[in-house]
Amino acid sequence: MELLLSQRERTYLTVIKHLTDEEGFARLSKIAKEMSISPASAYEEINHLIKKGFVQKTNKGIKLTEEGEKELNKAIKAHRVVEYWLFNLGFGAAEACNYAKKFDYMVPLEVIEKLYVNLGKPETCPHGEKIPE
Ligand SMILES: [Zn+2]
Ligand SMILES: [Zn+2]
Repeated sequence: MELLLSQRERTYLTVIKHLTDEEGFARLSKIAKEMSISPASAYEEINHLIKKGFVQKTNKGIKLTEEGEKELNKAIKAHRVVEYWLFNLGFGAAEACNYAKKFDYMVPLEVIEKLYVNLGKPETCPHGEKIPE
């Protein structure tokens, strides 16, 4: 069974990705600010993510590795597929998002894939955001 990122890891990778998209790289101080934690705690978590191979340090700042991008994509897919499913069951889009956050990271990827196919490979989540294939 392939495990997804933990919720915490995913949050970090998402923040790093956002900052990188905006500024080309992520600074530790900005990551800490976005996460509302001290730079020391952010530093510790970044080191954990570097050891796992999801994040790398460059001269300018912190970036996702290719592996990190791939894992984040899987996590995004899991979230949006679960959202879509809950929305289909009759929950509102916001509610579907909140429920999905609570357990999408615990659903095995194989189950996400089956659900995705079973739902007819939806292109977007209930918020109109693209579901990666
Ligand atoms: Zn959502
Ligand atoms: Zn959504």
